[in-house]
Amino acid sequence: MQFIHFQYSTPPFGMVGNGEMGNQLCNSLWNCTKYMINFGLQLGGGPADMLDATMGVRLWFDFFFFLIISVIWVNVTFGIIIDTFSALRGDKEARLKDTTEFCFICGLDRQTFDRSSDVPDGFKIHIRNDHNMWSYLGFIFFIWEQDKDDDDGLEYYVRHKIDGNEITWFPLNKSMRLPASDSRTEEMQKKLAASVEAAQAGITSRLGDLQSDVGSMLENLTDVLRDVQQYAEETEQGEQEEQEWFPALGYDISLGVVEVSGAEQPEEELRLLNLRVIADSGMYSCNTTGVDMARKAALFDGGALFLVGENAQPTDKNPSLSIQILQGTGAGASKFIGVVELSLGELLQQEQECTIDRPFQRMGQVADCVITLKVEWEQSRTFASSD
Ligand SMILES: [Zn+2]
Repeated sequence: MQFIHFQYSTPPFGMVGNGEMGNQLCNSLWNCTKYMINFGLQLGGGPADMLDATMGVRLWFDFFFFLIISVIWVNVTFGIIIDTFSALRGDKEARLKDTTEFCFICGLDRQTFDRSSDVPDGFKIHIRNDHNMWSYLGFIFFIWEQDKDDDDGLEYYVRHKIDGNEITWFPLNKSMRLPASDSRTEEMQKKLAASVEAAQAGITSRLGDLQSDVGSMLENLTDVLRDVQQYAEETEQGEQEEQEWFPALGYDISLGVVEVSGAEQPEEELRLLNLRVIADSGMYSCNTTGVDMARKAALFDGGALFLVGENAQPTDKNPSLSIQILQGTGAGASKFIGVVELSLGELLQQEQECTIDRPFQRMGQVADCVITLKVEWEQSRTFASSD
C-alpha cells in the first residue's frame, strides 16, 4: 500500500515544482507521500479535493486515484478484514459445536444418544457416565504413574498405544449405550457384504439360467443330430435294400403263340408248322391247331402259356427268348422257316396282358411274316436268392 502511495506521490511531486498543487505541502517526496496518505484517503475524492479543479492531464490522475485507491483498494482491505473475522467466527462456532454436540471420546453426535435414550438428556448422561473424558485422562495419568511391570493386559495394551500416540484404543464411533448400532465402518462393511452377496446371487442365478439354456440347446442339437443320423442310416439302408430287393422283385412272364400269318405256303404245309420256344427257364414246343387260309395264317392254341421268364427285370435287354418257326417234313424231321428273338425287358414294356405282333423274315419269301404272341406278366411272389 505504501508502495502504491509512493507511486502516486511521484507525479504530484513533479507538479509541485510548477506550482500545480497550489500550496507548499508537497514540496518533497516524503512530504508528498504524507500528503497523499492524509488527503488521498481522508477525502472522498482523493487528493483532487485539495487541488485546483481541472479537466487537463490531471483528470486521469484524479480518476484513476479514485478508482484504484478509493474504490478497489480500500474495499479489498475491508473485505479482507471482514472475511478474516468471519472465518475466525466460523472456526469458533465449529469448535464450539464439536465440543458441545459431539462426544469427545467416541465422536458420535448428540442426536444419536438423545434419540436412543429412554430418558431425557441421553447425551449428557453418556458424556458424564459412559465416555467421561476426564476419566479417560485420569486413566492415562494412572498408566503414566503406574510401574510398567504392574500393568495387566489392558493397561499394557493402552500403554503401548499411548506411547505410540495412537487413539485407536478409544471406542471410536461406538458406545455400549448403543448396542444395536454399529460403527460406520461396520455398517459399510455390512452394506458391502450385502451388495456382494446380492451380486453373487444374481451371477449365480444367471449362470444357472445360462447353464440350463446351454443344456437345452445341446439337447435339441443332439436330437437333431440323432434325427439326421437316423435319416442317413435309413436312407442308406433303404438304398441297400432297394439294391438288394431290386433283382428280387422281378416279374414272371408267360408267353403263348396265337398265330403265324403271312406265310406264302399251301394249306397242308401250314398245318405242319410247329414252333420251338427257347427260354432260360426251358424249351417248349407247340403245334398248329388250325389254318385260316383267308389270312394265310396257321393258328395255335393261344391259351397255352409257357413260363419264359422268372424274376425278370425291365432292364433285361439281352434277347434271351428265341422262338423258332419250323416246318414239319414228315418222318419226324423239320425244316427251319424263321426265328423271332425277344428280350424279357421288351416284353415287360407291354401291358400286363396283351397280344403283340412281331415280324420275321421267312426264308425264300420277300414279304414279312408276322407271329402273334400273347404275353402275360405279373410280379414275382418269390424272391431270388442273393447269390
Ligand atoms: Zn461417547
